[in-house]
Amino acid sequence: MFTLIPLPAFDDNYIWVLHDGRHAVAVDPGDPAPLIAFLDTHQLALTAVLITHHHRDHTGGNVLLRQRYQCAIHAPDNPRIPAVTHILRGGDSVNLAEPDMHFDVLATPGHTLDHISYVGHGNLFCGDTVFGCGCGKLFEGTPAMMANSLDIILTLPDTNRVCCAHEYTLSNIDFAKTIDGTNPALLERERTDRALRAKNLPTLPSTLALEKTTNPFLRFHDPDMTAFASRYLNRPNLTPAEVFGAIRAAKDAWDG
Ligand code: ZN
Ligand code: FE
Repeated sequence: MFTLIPLPAFDDNYIWVLHDGRHAVAVDPGDPAPLIAFLDTHQLALTAVLITHHHRDHTGGNVLLRQRYQCAIHAPDNPRIPAVTHILRGGDSVNLAEPDMHFDVLATPGHTLDHISYVGHGNLFCGDTVFGCGCGKLFEGTPAMMANSLDIILTLPDTNRVCCAHEYTLSNIDFAKTIDGTNPALLERERTDRALRAKNLPTLPSTLALEKTTNPFLRFHDPDMTAFASRYLNRPNLTPAEVFGAIRAAKDAWDG
């Protein structure tokens, strides 16, 4: 079996490590230092890096890690990502020998146009597409594009561990309560996740089941969120993408 670890990096990033006790894969190692320290402590060889999108807080370790471990660097097709050895598109798969791991690649544009996610061994590495109780800002894509990406994620089994690249869960819960404050699953999640953060523990991975019941950005097909969006836009008969767009706009306004 494989061990899954979130390594804190920068202020609120997580570098996800999946290893078999000898060989490791790392997702979005924007800062190589905490990853190298972890690999040294546990005497693990880094064989592959998986990159979700071009932002520096996800790709900043590529050059040094490639030099130090000669690891493969899998990434979407974007010249801004350094030291890439394997370019991926949605529908591709990543098949590694050591560790014996296999990931399906999903195209999940929205936060950026190049964004991809990786699914394997019960884990969803979704970068800045889904956060705990939230989703990434639309820096490059449209609401319709992100809604389509989230629809693909919604087809995955509920048991998937949701491995997000940032610890934003508590502030996302604060926002979610402003539009979905009577949702008992959300209030229960708030208690659980506040207790975790009080002990400085990650709120992640969550599960897709938990996100489906508590994350407003994955509930844009839900009648409660549709009603919220109609009030927010003052317009009936919204498409799911418009509902998603209204929730995203409300969060952007709330963020200030
Ligand atoms: Zn990003
Ligand atoms: Fe990021």
